[in-house]
Parts: sequence; C-alpha cells; structure tokens
Amino acid sequence: MANPHPHHHDPITAATLELLKKHDPAIADLIAKEADRQATTIELIASENHVSAAVMHAMGTCLTNKYAEGYPGARYYGGCVFHDQIEDLARQRACQLFGCRFANVQPHSGAQANTAAMMSLMEAGDTFASLVLKDGGHLSHGMKINFSGRFYKPVHYPLHYAKDHPEHERIDYDAVKAVCREHKPKVVMCGYSAYPRVIDFKKFREAADEVGAILVADIAHIAGLVAAGVHPSPFPHAHVVTTTTHKTLRGPRGGLIMTNDEELAKKIDRNVFPGVQGGPLMHVIGSKAVAFGEALKPEFKTYCQQVVKNAKALAEALVKLGYRITSGGTDNHLMLVDLRQRSEKLTGADAEKWLEMAGIICNKNGIPDDPRPPKLTSGVRLGSPATTTRGFKEDQMRQIASWIDRVLGAGLESPETLESETKRVREEVRSLCSTFPLPA
Ligand SMILES: *Cc1c(COP(=O)(O)O)cnc(C)c1O
Repeated sequence: MANPHPHHHDPITAATLELLKKHDPAIADLIAKEADRQATTIELIASENHVSAAVMHAMGTCLTNKYAEGYPGARYYGGCVFHDQIEDLARQRACQLFGCRFANVQPHSGAQANTAAMMSLMEAGDTFASLVLKDGGHLSHGMKINFSGRFYKPVHYPLHYAKDHPEHERIDYDAVKAVCREHKPKVVMCGYSAYPRVIDFKKFREAADEVGAILVADIAHIAGLVAAGVHPSPFPHAHVVTTTTHKTLRGPRGGLIMTNDEELAKKIDRNVFPGVQGGPLMHVIGSKAVAFGEALKPEFKTYCQQVVKNAKALAEALVKLGYRITSGGTDNHLMLVDLRQRSEKLTGADAEKWLEMAGIICNKNGIPDDPRPPKLTSGVRLGSPATTTRGFKEDQMRQIASWIDRVLGAGLESPETLESETKRVREEVRSLCSTFPLPA
C-alpha cells in the first residue's frame, strides 16, 4: 500500500503522491513511507527542519525547466524575464532579512557557497584559519579531503579545553588572535555546525584586522536566529557571510552568500557562476524567495524565540537526569550531550541507534576533546528547530528528555530491556506526534 497514513501527509506531498502513484509507483511508495516517517518521529537533528507547504510547493513547479545561467539582466539564455524578477525578489528579500547590500542566491548548497566565497578571497595554497571539524566546525572549513583542505592551507584555532576554565569548551578568542599572528591567514572563518554558544563576531573581526585578513562568517546553522534577531548579526563585522537556507532559516535546501562590499560582491558573483556552478536551480531560488518572505514576518521571530527556549528546556531536563551538556548549556538551537556522565560505556553511535528504534532521530557527534573516533563518539547533537516548527513547547521538550533517558537506560541494561522499552516509547512518540501535525 502506497499511502498507509494519508492523514499524516501535508497536502502538497499528498497531491504529488496521487499523481505519482500511477506514474511511478515505486518512488510514490518510498516518498509515502518517508512522509510517514517524518510525521510520526521526533526530529532532533539540529540541521533539519520542516518547511511550510508554500516553500515546498514552490520547488515543485515549472521553474525547474529553465536554464538561467548568468544573473538578472545578464543571462546567457532567452526567456528569462520572469526568472529575472524571481531572482531579484529573492536577492532583495535576503538583503532586507539580513540587513546587507548584496546577496547571491544561486549556490546550490552551503558547501558550494563556501567554495565560491573561498575562491573569491584566496588563491590556491593560501592560508585560512578556522575551527577544526572535531570541535564543531564544518567539513568545508578545511577537512583534508574536502576542496577547502586540498587547495588551501587550513590552520585551526582552539576552544578552551581545560575543565576548570570558566569558558570551558567555548572559543578561545585570545588563541584566535595568536593563531592569526602566527600564520597570517588571508581569511578567518567563523560559524559552526556543532557550537551551542553565541559567536562574538566583533572579536573575530579584531583578530582578522590585526593581520589584514578577511572575515567570513558561515552562519549555516544559526541563519534563522540571526534573521530573527535572536542571535547577534555577523554584519557589520564580517566582510562576507555564507549560509545554508534549509536549517533554522526553514527554506529549501540551498546556499546564500552576502556582503556589503560592492567589489567583493562582483567577485563572488563571478565565482559562483561560472566559477563553481552552471545553471542556477530556479525552482529552489523561487522557494528561497518564499522562505525569506516568511522569515520577514513577525511569526518567524516568535518561532525562533521558541526554538531557543525549547533547546534550553531540553538541555536543563537532561542535566537533571544526569547528563552533561558541553559548555554547560546552550544559547542557540542546539546542544552537545556528553553521554559519559550518564555511563562511561555509553557511545554516541549506540545512543543514535537506540533512540531511532524509539522514533527519536538525532546524530552521534564528537564532543570537544573526544577520546573516541568519529564513528563512535561520546556525544549526541540535539536541536530544537524541527520540533519547534511542529508546535512543541517546553513541556514536550521535557517529555523528550525523559524518553531519551528511558531508552538509553534500557539499552545500558540489556538488549531485551532495550527492545521492550523502545517499543513502549515508540508508541508514546507516535501518539504525541499525531497531536502535533507537520505544517500544511
Ligand atoms: C550545514 C553546514 C554547511 C553546508 O551545508 P550543505 O548545504 O550541506 O553543503 C556549511 N557550513 C556549516 C557551518 C554548516 O553547518
């Protein structure tokens, strides 16, 4: 049966499935199953969200048919009159949302945005400073096998690792300056994938200015919070800001690059196209415009405020249950849970697997100074963007904490206990999800 729980599906997916059932039953069946998975499980992956039906719908349109290489008013193909207007609207809304002068909405993803930004600011072999992946950075910030680590020379600044330091597991801003003085990087990257605290962009700019470096803020994770004023803005401190559009910003999958500098903006445009990409994904750009429009509304600010409140509620509840949250808590939408506090035996890999059995979806994640390898880890990363979109408030987050502890406790006890307890929790999760349907 292609559609076991039709009432769970948002109307866009449901309408698409009606069509696909006849046209391509194999794919229809798999999309229906995925729609059901999303509807009936709790999504705690910090980089994920549930988009509105409008954002989703805009992607599934005829805009996908068009080649629009180039930029509004300067395309390499005819027939772009409406595409010019759509891309202009997307750019204008992005600038309004983030309070900047220039935006390039064409990057296919966050990593592509970083590729184009780096190509605009560095020559092959140049040095840049960033946080290393294992401390919460991103693979596009200098991982060895990524382009950023193959074609440039990354140097990394540290966190405070000493347990008794008051800023334990937070960025060591003095060390950022020291790393800059020692290596004279062309670019300093800030902005992370697993960092639960406010980023002080002003301090980063001071460190960059001392050595004449360009500051790039990659706000992929916190873009929504920045747009809503719930996290300080990287402007005016960062010279260039890159981001994804699909995390807290709650748009379609994609990237975005912004700046206030006209010369840099021209370089960035050339490096996105034809530097790293061909034709833009106009159906995604249309959807980005819709998402930016939504993020400009007052409701989005309320949403982001609740995202932060929900993350805090989850973190506090986990602490009460005996878990350690790295850096002692969270200021944003995510947290890293140090599982060793609950039991030395507990790994991130086990926790991720056991929680999924109960319908709670998250990812294992290294914690600062993690003695375990990335395939095992001592932590899980939990985020509140997707559950907040569903309408969860602090009470539901506390309920999730208690489910997490029941599942992990059962897993530590025995495989049999794990099996029976995850069955029970799975049903409770399903029941809660049915009273908080996905956006339609
Ligand atoms: C998610 C993320 C990206 C990359 O996003 P993709 O769209 O997956 O390429 C870049 N930088 C940071 C900090 C991220 O968290």
